[in-house]
Amino acid sequence: MHTASANSSRVDDDVADAIIAEVRRFVNEKVVPVASEYDHADKYPYELLDTMKALGLFGATIPEEYGGSGLSFTTYARIVEEVTRGWMSLSGIFNSHLLVAYMITQYGTPEQKQMYLPKMASGDWRAAIAITEPHAGTDVQNIKTRATRDGDHYVIKGSKLFITNAREARVLATVTKTDPNAQPRHRGISIMLVDKGDDGLPGLDVSRQLKKLGYKGLETCEVFYDNVVVPQAQLLGGVEGQGFYQVLNGLEVGRINVAARGLGIARAAFEAAITYAQQREAFGEPIANFQAIQLKLADMATKIEAARLLIWSAAAKKDRGERCDLEAGMAKLFATEVGQECALEAMRIHGGIGYTEEVPVERYYRDAPLMLIGEGTNEMQRLVIARGLLKRYALDAGERG
Ligand SMILES: Cc1cc2nc3c(=O)[nH]c(=O)nc-3n(C[C@H](O)[C@H](O)[C@H](O)COP(=O)(O)OP(=O)(O)OC[C@H]3O[C@@H](n4cnc5c(N)ncnc54)[C@H](O)[C@@H]3O)c2cc1C
Repeated sequence: MHTASANSSRVDDDVADAIIAEVRRFVNEKVVPVASEYDHADKYPYELLDTMKALGLFGATIPEEYGGSGLSFTTYARIVEEVTRGWMSLSGIFNSHLLVAYMITQYGTPEQKQMYLPKMASGDWRAAIAITEPHAGTDVQNIKTRATRDGDHYVIKGSKLFITNAREARVLATVTKTDPNAQPRHRGISIMLVDKGDDGLPGLDVSRQLKKLGYKGLETCEVFYDNVVVPQAQLLGGVEGQGFYQVLNGLEVGRINVAARGLGIARAAFEAAITYAQQREAFGEPIANFQAIQLKLADMATKIEAARLLIWSAAAKKDRGERCDLEAGMAKLFATEVGQECALEAMRIHGGIGYTEEVPVERYYRDAPLMLIGEGTNEMQRLVIARGLLKRYALDAGERG
């Protein structure tokens, strides 16, 4: 029994390794050579979409019965690390998409699963998650976008801000208030699968595309819902008031993915730095010979390894079907801070050239900070981690003395 499961896990590992090797080849051959060009032109990578579809990136974690690859979250995290190593924006195209797919898989009605998952797995229909509003980001429960029941429809009115993929996505999983007076507030939150259809949806306006420091090429938009009418069947799971839990669970996956993006940037920065340090000479020798540079490289590599293990540990917990908000939060916090630190250190190791568009480290440096903010700011991550720890280590009355 023990031997059989060890064997089957070796087979799983072999399959995962083969997938990662294929993704790495795609990244090295098709992404690395063009990433900075797309980034500097702030150009959407339409030309890479077909290969991404063929590689199965859009269906990576969607169950096989719906046409996806049914990969584990651990393998998914490895994929995200590889893709981000090439270009962080590219992973953004399928990350929120797969977060929505996860929520549909977990909570969708049978009709919603049949309707969306196969088309999403192929990448023909892509998805965005619309939570944030101009006045409410961290404080999700304070959203104001309202979905009002009217017969067999909902009418949605409000606006969202910072919605990645909003223009290119077919489906906007929109977090709404169905009961603004509910107490506690989260009981009034529901998710609507707002489907643009083939010809657009009256009242839905993906308006402004925000100009950003990094994460270029990919649209991050303001979205207006002016009495958008959606059938009742678009309420995720068919029951009102479940949206907050659905989002929280989805964000566990989101945090693993953002952590893996932080790791991908860290690795790209480290690899650029260790290569450059051996090529660049000062005082008649490679700068890699100087201890000041070696200490930086050692610290970067050590933190990268630690970040990877934290991510894999959180992902493995998710794969076992266990709650992993604490572990995913720790992985997200640590790996994204490491991404930011490594991007800066790589720039310093490059000296002046690192501050120019001649080398990709300037891009890593502009992309890295988003990971500190997205999927819950790192300030909030610390609070969530602390709350989880206090719950886990709570003393009973006797122990408190
Ligand atoms: C490029 C980009 C892409 C994005 N993509 C999406 C997307 O696809 N979908 C989506 O829904 N959103 C998206 N977002 C929004 C993102 O998730 C929010 O920006 C983020 O959650 C923070 O919210 P906020 O900007 O409103 O900051 P705020 O919530 O206003 O926070 C401001 C500061 O206050 C701190 N703070 C707030 N509350 C507390 C507290 N209780 N304790 C301690 N500190 C606190 C925060 O940590 C932060 O430092 C995106 C943002 C960006 C920049």
